[in-house]
Amino acid sequence: MKPAPLAVVVACATLAFTPLFARQTPSPMPAPATPSAPPPQGQARGATQRPDEGAVRDANGAVVGFTKTAEIPGTPWRIHDAGRPHPRMVTPGATPADAPSDAIVLFDGKDLSKWVKESDPTKPAPWPVRDGYFETGAGSGSIMTREKFGDIQLHLEFSTPSPGRGASQDRGNSGIKFMDKYELQILDSYQNITYADGQAGAIYGEYPPLVNPVKKPGEWQVYDVVFEAPKFKDTTLVAPAYITAFLNGVAIQIRRPVMGPTSPTMTPHQYTAHDAELPLMLQDHAHPVRFRNVWVRRLAGYDQPEKQ
Ligand code: MG
Repeated sequence: MKPAPLAVVVACATLAFTPLFARQTPSPMPAPATPSAPPPQGQARGATQRPDEGAVRDANGAVVGFTKTAEIPGTPWRIHDAGRPHPRMVTPGATPADAPSDAIVLFDGKDLSKWVKESDPTKPAPWPVRDGYFETGAGSGSIMTREKFGDIQLHLEFSTPSPGRGASQDRGNSGIKFMDKYELQILDSYQNITYADGQAGAIYGEYPPLVNPVKKPGEWQVYDVVFEAPKFKDTTLVAPAYITAFLNGVAIQIRRPVMGPTSPTMTPHQYTAHDAELPLMLQDHAHPVRFRNVWVRRLAGYDQPEKQ
């Protein structure tokens, strides 16, 4: 049967329900409100009981903050505090893969001038650069940045050798070592079983990734990571390192407290006090893993003073 046009359905429904509405007893109307004085400036009509929040207005009269609202516990600020610093502007990249305006580009597709040989920082990074990417100089040693970093956001793209060769840890192995100590694993974990806390996305020897979102060998994969450096007071650990990581856009580590440098296997991982900033390292594990589009942003924390 052909459905009735919408207009007909609406008309029928109206006719059918009109008598019902007509039978309803009208509810008593509220007494007309006594005309009252307009609310004081800064208060919305109908909110005459609202306390004075200490609204602060800009030159055009827009409310841009308050001075008498409740204090936010554990902070020096009130709710919607007019004096709270405004975060600085950052121009994002054209896509989330592109470096934003405040990023330090560590590889722009051309050269490894921002990197040195890890075992001898006076020497250049010995890894080959080709067609917009660089590749582990398998067996030539790990590389690290000339610049030192503490808290950072890292973007890095990698691909493991195709076709994949080897098994377990001996397959597409590299790694990102924050501060040359704390490894977030790079491995060909596509249909390749190894110990869980050593597969791609693992904080090596500590935490497996939440899930395994890897791509096939040879496909470009994307790491986006927030690394918070450990904090020491003299020789005492005040706060551990934390790693939050997305692999191919999937959350795999959520602010995991790193237990210490991730290399030891026969002793528990344990911190030793070190500098607040150290180089970022990429591991040579004798497999030709490729990298491209590597950038970091220094993270300075919340409520930074506004530039004058
Ligand atoms: Mg590794």
